[in-house]
Amino acid sequence: MPDNRLFMRYDRLIRTPSVTGNEEAAAAYVAKELEGMGLTAEWHWAAEGKWPSIKATLKGSDPSAKSLLLIGHLDTVAVTDGWKTDPFTPVVEGDRVYALGSSDMKGGIAAVLEAVNRFIEKSDGHPPNRGDLHLAFSADEEGLSRGTYKMLREGLSADMAIMAECRFDNIAIGFRGRYSMTADVRGTAAHASRYPETGRNAIIDAAKLAVAIENLPTAKHPEVGSGTWCVRHIEGGIKTTLSVPDKCGIFIDRYVVPGETSASCVAQVLGAAASLGIEDRVDVALTKRDTPFMESFVIERDHPLLLSVVRHFREVAGREPSLEIDRSVCDSNYLVVLGGIPTVTFGPSGEGFHGPNEFGSMKEVEQAAEIYERVIRDIIC
Ligand SMILES: [Zn+2]
Repeated sequence: MPDNRLFMRYDRLIRTPSVTGNEEAAAAYVAKELEGMGLTAEWHWAAEGKWPSIKATLKGSDPSAKSLLLIGHLDTVAVTDGWKTDPFTPVVEGDRVYALGSSDMKGGIAAVLEAVNRFIEKSDGHPPNRGDLHLAFSADEEGLSRGTYKMLREGLSADMAIMAECRFDNIAIGFRGRYSMTADVRGTAAHASRYPETGRNAIIDAAKLAVAIENLPTAKHPEVGSGTWCVRHIEGGIKTTLSVPDKCGIFIDRYVVPGETSASCVAQVLGAAASLGIEDRVDVALTKRDTPFMESFVIERDHPLLLSVVRHFREVAGREPSLEIDRSVCDSNYLVVLGGIPTVTFGPSGEGFHGPNEFGSMKEVEQAAEIYERVIRDIIC
């Protein structure tokens, strides 16, 4: 990799494993780099000794000026099968850097650090920013987003934000939301030899319910598109007992668009059960989790931050980015929906994230750092 500060940090971040739940070393590294720029790194732990996130602020001179947040996540997914190289050692091939997190999203973190570092350096001790520049590096984004949720609960706020996730020339202006739920179906046990005259087979009812769920309608949003249903798991019966199964549970993933609520999704599953005449044999419940489910959003296409990112992208990368809706969820959902912070999701990318042989693009890391620095000047100076 090029021998400079930006790529030294990219390299160090990759060599510092930070699989979700083990972010401390990466958090300490980012905190040290921020302190090196003269900023104070605040630690926010989502639980006792677990999921540390780092926050810092470069104070502006005018409290009434707009503030900007640059944010990214420290954690990566776990190592999957199929890696051809060591996931924690960057391997360079042309513009590509193969490593876990090289795309999702250690390049984004390195680019944010570099942009802020250059901004501070060029100001020669007198930063020209009128508005506050907030920085946040979260834990557990690949888990339950405990880091960003915790920071929001502890006062993280800004007028607008860039989430430095790996979307480069496909800037995300909206995300779908996601709920998950279980449907537990009760049957009636009986000796299997007496079936079907006696007993009620919970597996068969659950299977019919799964098919009915697959065919349930979803809402359509003019920008975000459609929600989807996915039955992801089914479990019931006991192999070692000669009984008609009396229990079968299914696990359901539901991506949503604005307007679809957890209550409306649960009601749809109950409706499907009713259409099969088994509503009194089915319990539907949202999955219990430590943080809220993520709801869908889309930001205004003429938001000043988005216009600034697009303009500087065009100038730096020399082409037009597309504005897209991400089909999944990320911490941006919390920033917008819970924090009320319009968020543009844009950062250096690559390919293969969440799988083996993920790679990042050095060119995009370099260009993202440049674009972030320009946008900082645009928005808060
Ligand atoms: Zn990510």
